[in-house]
Amino acid sequence: MNARVVLLGGGYVTLFAYRALMRRLGRQVRSGRVEIVVISPDDAHSFHGFTGEVIAGILPYERTRTPLAEVMPHARILPARAVHIDRRQRLVEIERVDDGVRSDLSYTALVVGTGGREPVGRVPGMAHHGRTLRGPGDIRALSDRVATAVDAPAGSVDRRILVVGGGLAGVELAAAAADRGAGDLQVTLVHAGPRLLPELDSQPRLRARARAELIRLGVAVRTGVRVAAVDDGGARLADGTYLRAGIVIATVGQAPVAIGGLEEFGDDRGRLATGPDLSVTTGIWAAGDAARVVRPGTREPVPANALWAIKAGAHAGANVAASLHNELGLPGYAGRVRRPFSYRGLGRAASFGLGRSISELYGIPFTGALAWVLRMVFFLRFMPSRRRALAVVGDLVRRSRSVRGADRRGVQQVVPAAGADRSSVSRHGSRPEPVRPRVPARQT
Ligand SMILES: Cc1cc2nc3c(=O)[nH]c(=O)nc-3n(C[C@H](O)[C@H](O)[C@H](O)COP(=O)(O)OP(=O)(O)OC[C@H]3O[C@@H](n4cnc5c(N)ncnc54)[C@H](O)[C@@H]3O)c2cc1C
Repeated sequence: MNARVVLLGGGYVTLFAYRALMRRLGRQVRSGRVEIVVISPDDAHSFHGFTGEVIAGILPYERTRTPLAEVMPHARILPARAVHIDRRQRLVEIERVDDGVRSDLSYTALVVGTGGREPVGRVPGMAHHGRTLRGPGDIRALSDRVATAVDAPAGSVDRRILVVGGGLAGVELAAAAADRGAGDLQVTLVHAGPRLLPELDSQPRLRARARAELIRLGVAVRTGVRVAAVDDGGARLADGTYLRAGIVIATVGQAPVAIGGLEEFGDDRGRLATGPDLSVTTGIWAAGDAARVVRPGTREPVPANALWAIKAGAHAGANVAASLHNELGLPGYAGRVRRPFSYRGLGRAASFGLGRSISELYGIPFTGALAWVLRMVFFLRFMPSRRRALAVVGDLVRRSRSVRGADRRGVQQVVPAAGADRSSVSRHGSRPEPVRPRVPARQT
């Protein structure tokens, strides 16, 4: 009997599930006894961790993209999206990206790693006028748009950027856009909650540092007010204020990608509820942003971030391998058991430009250059491609040399964002003359 493992998505879950499968079933995959099929509408893996650096113009967009065929050479990769699962017959219905043709693909085991999208439908006008980051091509399009905004006529609405959502992603993006603008862009961050960075509730020092970095970069911050509607000229806040903006960026959390046939396993937020071994039901596993993963002994779901997607993806892959070994009676693996997911986490981080970060590692807060180095080491370690990780190091070295060179030549004042809560915008330290690499973004 031959087996087929179908991996849905081309993100962290799929990549690390593939690696775990190859470590345990490599011989069977090479001999054709087990087939791995990846269904992804995007032909490359997106490394989201460096989104801030891309928007800030510190790294070229293509550094964050690794072709799926390069990192999963033994998988069959189908450019398609999954639309429906027939659990009884173990079929996944897929829709080809190029022509929309649908067909069925059978599976022995299925790993759902389809991630999430921003729930832009919750704010009127956001879906049409707001910019998201999780769809194919979104980050490149935003990076290009921010680069264009810098060259827009002074005082025009095109130079105003509104970031909606004050979590880690929103804070990092607002800082990155301001960094790119070097005083030429007016960046405003609006957050519905009372305080920025709810993820860092237990880390007041890191929150304070993040706030100070936003002030340094000239980002105007509005907290405690919702964005009520977005249109082509900006956004209306719930308190009646209208903020003009040429670019509205939606970092408003995320909702799992919905796939038909699995509705009964969704929790109140649509995440697929997994058991301790990360299985959803017979033959189906899930991990990452699409799943609700709870570690044994805890009640809270693990955070939706890359590290948890990586660890849970690898774990799901290992458990799929164990169950296939038993099901197929493969030699040397009799009695291999599916283990509960017990990873304990590591930390989180956000960047505010070259050499400036906040990081939390095992609950210990770090700021400044040390935090930046820790974040870099960690991110480079988890980039799917060694070659691209090395290229990132080269980019960063070149960039810091050019900034130091500019530093020696002189400094420029950064102007605070106008038209927003100036109480939160104090004096920004002087900063080096901007070095804006005009790197033409190309898709790999
Ligand atoms: C801008 C941004 C910055 C971030 N920064 C950080 C950070 O600094 N640190 C951190 O830890 N986390 C960060 N995250 C979060 C992190 O990227 C996610 O938690 C992580 O990507 C989740 O991995 P995943 O495999 O579940 O989903 P993803 O990596 O999102 O992959 C999902 C895949 O599924 C595909 N897909 C979607 N629908 C379908 C379908 N119907 N059929 C088949 N395939 C489908 C998508 O094209 C994609 O390839 C960031 C996220 C964003 C958007």
